[in-house]
Amino acid sequence: MNKRQAVISAIEDIECSLRQFSRMGWKGFDCSQRCLDALDAWGTEPAAGGSISDETLADIRHDLGDCLRCKLSAGRKNIVFGSGSSQARLVFVGEGPGYDEDLQGEPFVGAAGQLLTKIIQAMGLNREAVYICNIIKCRPPGNRNPEPDEISACAPFLKRQLRTISPDFICALGTFAAQTLLETTAPISRLRGRFYDYLGARLLPTYHPAYLLRNPAKKRDVWQDMQALMGAMGLPLSAGQKSDS
Ligand code: URA
Repeated sequence: MNKRQAVISAIEDIECSLRQFSRMGWKGFDCSQRCLDALDAWGTEPAAGGSISDETLADIRHDLGDCLRCKLSAGRKNIVFGSGSSQARLVFVGEGPGYDEDLQGEPFVGAAGQLLTKIIQAMGLNREAVYICNIIKCRPPGNRNPEPDEISACAPFLKRQLRTISPDFICALGTFAAQTLLETTAPISRLRGRFYDYLGARLLPTYHPAYLLRNPAKKRDVWQDMQALMGAMGLPLSAGQKSDS
């Protein structure tokens, strides 16, 4: 991360913190023990496994509004906020909406999304039990990679979503999501298959389903990653019979 990105990231965190305090009804700053304890608890795992945020996904969607914070707003049809359970133990984070997602306003509903649905089902779960979202919420023109200013505009909302859901596990789908969340330039082939700490959750990077559509031989690696995830989550490993479909 360069100096500018570090400053932007710090400002995002401050903004996120101020919103939290505002929602908690605080009108200003104090240095009482309550205030210091709340600050200390930020970014750490909640003691009872609950949410570390007191706002709802609906609050965050409301704040996002008809977002004009970056240039992607000009070309999008729909904001793709995210879908699934606000109580999910597992969140999948992809890169950004494609053509189908932009049309429908839902994440991972195109060809790659159908493969992701199969992967989730092979784990013995379904889309309603997990939460699915992306690093950015609007489709980049021609499906190009998101640019730094677009990521910076969207990141505070993704972080708030993750703090609200407070999942135990996050699966970063593909190079872009893994590199952005972990703030690294390491290749996905090196990042995948290992757990990392992220916002109090265990984050596992794996290949993106769109990559699997182009490279079916890599499904085996993803299934290995999903089995590691299932093991860590305490899910029965026998759920995976249909992984090669
Ligand atoms: N690819 C992604 O990264 N996200 C989607 O929602 C769809 C395709």
